[in-house]
Amino acid sequence: MPRPEFPNLTLLDHPLIQHKLSILRDKRTTTRDFKQLVSEIAMLMAYEVTKDLPLEPVDIDTPLERTRGVQVAGKKLTLVPILRAGLGMVEGISALIPSARVGHIGLYRDHDTLNPVDYYFKIPAGEQDRAFFVLDPMLATGGSAVAATTALRHAGARRMRFLCLVAAPEGVRHMLAHHPDVPLYAAALDRGLDARGYIRPGLGDAGDRLFGTGRQ
Ligand code: URA
Repeated sequence: MPRPEFPNLTLLDHPLIQHKLSILRDKRTTTRDFKQLVSEIAMLMAYEVTKDLPLEPVDIDTPLERTRGVQVAGKKLTLVPILRAGLGMVEGISALIPSARVGHIGLYRDHDTLNPVDYYFKIPAGEQDRAFFVLDPMLATGGSAVAATTALRHAGARRMRFLCLVAAPEGVRHMLAHHPDVPLYAAALDRGLDARGYIRPGLGDAGDRLFGTGRQ
């Protein structure tokens, strides 16, 4: 259902996405299953997020005759995971869109200013005309999302979409304030952030759960 206060946000309520998200939230879900589920949800989300991609006609020779078909128009889509948790979303989307290029953005938080600083930034050449999907499972404060989007914009990106699994209202608001033209897609909009910056009810630390680096 559209939320008037968040015109930038689309919640993807496909039953399979919602079912898998519930398993993902469960603290008993193993690292192996968590990784698999993040990948599957990302794939299902990408299916929905790409439904308005423009098409162009193409001639095809079948084994029997020449016919007309369609293909996705424009340059290859580029996935840009924000390191490190965003990496978990790449495989599922790439399975659906094998031609997608993959860029990477690494960010850390400066101790003095508390602002995110990018320590790694690599995207395919000819970036201006491409459509970018920025990936991060958790949109918490929105600091990384805003910084990644700003960095891409400085590199010439014009068409960007941000895909996350769980969003906090604080993050959605932050993106709306800084990048109102970038559509956000999430499987859930949760209650809010706690004092440590975790999304509640959330699913914990997505990076730790994906890579098995949390307390077991
Ligand atoms: N990052 C996470 O991995 N989890 C949160 O709840 C917030 C930020």
